[in-house]
Amino acid sequence: MRTTGEQLIESLLAVLFPPECPCCGTIMTRGEGPMCLLCRATLPETTHHLSPTANDLIDKLQGRVFIERAAAYFTYRRDSKHSALIHDMKYHGRPVIGRRLGEEFGRKLAAAGFFNGIDAITPVPLNFWRHCRRGYNQAAWFARGLAAETGLPVVDTLRAGHHTSQTRLTADERRRALSDVYTAIAGATSGIGHILIVDDICTTGATLYACAEALKAARPDLRISAACIASTSLI
Ligand SMILES: [Zn+2]
Repeated sequence: MRTTGEQLIESLLAVLFPPECPCCGTIMTRGEGPMCLLCRATLPETTHHLSPTANDLIDKLQGRVFIERAAAYFTYRRDSKHSALIHDMKYHGRPVIGRRLGEEFGRKLAAAGFFNGIDAITPVPLNFWRHCRRGYNQAAWFARGLAAETGLPVVDTLRAGHHTSQTRLTADERRRALSDVYTAIAGATSGIGHILIVDDICTTGATLYACAEALKAARPDLRISAACIASTSLI
């Protein structure tokens, strides 16, 4: 739920700058967003929320650390018009897209019982310099959207060190490259029994896995689940 102040600011901005659908460029009417009705109707949603313990996202996260449930809102394809949602959110200063997608997906997940027993949400962090350059962490905006629908707290539990681009690495190489990048913040998970790690996009699953590994190293008894906005298909 947005506050009255946020709704007022959104309404004023919508009058001054009618929002365009990031996917197709259509001018959206009030209340539409983060995409137009047509693009929403064709969004390639996954059905992960209906089978959160057995799906192609949780397959990517298999390893020594056990991830209990995992769900992505939609399947990402680079050449799809819906990829613009991720691109605009991440690189064009529109983190509010992440928040709105979090609210939408949060409603679906909550209705399916996905959050049962989960105590808190934690976003995958950006390292200090990347955060400074971008000005925001899009995963944190997605987390706030999920939190708005569930009332769960958003807690920063991880720190990210420097790492280079991994786009050319295989899934195993990515996991190895990321294994020392994320560290748990001391004491940040105290009082939390089951935590949900969230990210914007999941390709090989190496980032979410590295975060889970770091939290588990600090708190071996912590239960872990994962959610993201989009996941690339393994097929
Ligand atoms: Zn559209």
